[in-house]
Amino acid sequence: MTPIYTNLTHILHTIQQAAQQAGRQAGSVKLVAVSKTVPVAQIKQAISYGQLLFGENYLQEAQEKIPHLGKEVSWHFIGRLQSNKCRDVVELFDVVETVDRLKVAKRLDEYAASLNKRLNVLVQVNTGEEEQKAGVFPDATKALLEAIAACKHLSCRGLMALPPVFDNPEASRPHFRLLRQLAEHCASRELFYNNQQVELSMGMSGDYTAAIEEGATIIRVGTAIFGARS
Ligand SMILES: *Cc1c(COP(=O)(O)O)cnc(C)c1O
Repeated sequence: MTPIYTNLTHILHTIQQAAQQAGRQAGSVKLVAVSKTVPVAQIKQAISYGQLLFGENYLQEAQEKIPHLGKEVSWHFIGRLQSNKCRDVVELFDVVETVDRLKVAKRLDEYAASLNKRLNVLVQVNTGEEEQKAGVFPDATKALLEAIAACKHLSCRGLMALPPVFDNPEASRPHFRLLRQLAEHCASRELFYNNQQVELSMGMSGDYTAAIEEGATIIRVGTAIFGARS
């Protein structure tokens, strides 16, 4: 068995346990395999083990890899969005997780309209209010969601966060909780496409168990599947 197989099996088992612990269905948590810097051959291995959902951060890298990987795979864009790259992102990806300003939302909406498609997006929230990091600040999230709701070719499915890096997964927990509470508040104001089923993308290799306990519906895991990135 390859390490990728062993790692995936272990993670799926851990997801199941964490979900059970939290009184949730394991099927309510989607695993996005983060494949930035991972070569096509290794992604193909993961696909052969049944992993069909992947995340990429860099547009150019994704443009080189995605065409080699078949139609049954879904792709989430999880990188920093530049407004001049929005057209290609709309063409390649099924979900864009990192919408954090109206300019980018409007661009995505325009290109989705021109391709006659409806694009699923998440709004990235900067829960740690870190100046250098992408993401809308928590107290500006509601206004951004209101503006996105007017974009006819976007469906905002939920929120995403990339908390400050800590050594201890427990340190991420308040950020996960903040994201969940913000999502609940916004859902009560009917700001999402489906307010009964709001996606929360949070949790990575080091802290996905805590994220699931706090309500994550999407976890984004790279290193724990493919090993350390060089
Ligand atoms: C790289 C990355 C991940 C995965 O991180 P790991 O620690 O390797 O699991 C998740 N989300 C985003 C936005 C990333 O850039």
